Amino acid sequence: MIASGIATGLGDEWIRFGATSEHTADGSFSERTMALNKTYPGVEPPYQGNIIETQNDLNAWVERVHRGGIQVNCHANGDVAINMVLTAVERAQQLFPRSDARPKITHCTLINDDLLRRIKAAGVVPAVFTSYAYYNTDKFHFYGEDLMKRCMAFRSFLDAGVPAAAGSDFSPGPFDPRMGVQGMVTRTGWNGQTWGANQRISVEEALRINTINGAYNSHEEAIKGSITSGKLADFVVLADDPHTVDQDKIKDIEIVRTVVGGSTVYTA
Ligand SMILES: [Zn+2]
Repeated sequence: MIASGIATGLGDEWIRFGATSEHTADGSFSERTMALNKTYPGVEPPYQGNIIETQNDLNAWVERVHRGGIQVNCHANGDVAINMVLTAVERAQQLFPRSDARPKITHCTLINDDLLRRIKAAGVVPAVFTSYAYYNTDKFHFYGEDLMKRCMAFRSFLDAGVPAAAGSDFSPGPFDPRMGVQGMVTRTGWNGQTWGANQRISVEEALRINTINGAYNSHEEAIKGSITSGKLADFVVLADDPHTVDQDKIKDIEIVRTVVGGSTVYTA
């Protein structure tokens, strides 16, 4: 594809070549294998998760894709892996500056102030777990409350002006954006446990992350992401207002109509 000059953006609003699939930098959040800069709490022998490749190999892959005009997309969960991806992205931009490249970090789960500053400076677009805050709360004890305060850090991203988007991680996580919004707003799971409540955001913010920020993430904000004159009329009609319904019931709001390109394709 690189040799033939195919770059991000080729296609139309139905099928388009976007970012790469996830180039994996570390392990998984839910399987307790993401790369941490300290040992996992309570795990013997001491363990810090998995790194997939060397910094040099990651640098080479990011540079090749970036130079080819293709939107980089790396899977990175732990702070160690996010640091490695940022190092590779910063290096590629320095060698071959390309405006509005929007390198993508899928998951971008565990951050700190320094990583956040570099994400903002590099124009990185994170696509962060949404439904996990509802669906995976029984796994959050792997990390403990101190780390969960910096995981799936939507409040921190928005406060820093980073256009974080919604990442369902389907099929490991449910894709339903209603469950995603509920988890982002409440940080409370199916089992009643609340983790990292400091990262709660408003319903309005969660809806923007699930719509316009996703469109920005894929360079499609001119045609998608809001119900605006001149954009594609793709939207759903909900039976209740997510702003006013009980926040623990957002995931249960019924979809009564689905409209694609201005035409109704589903009616309840
Ligand atoms: Zn992934």
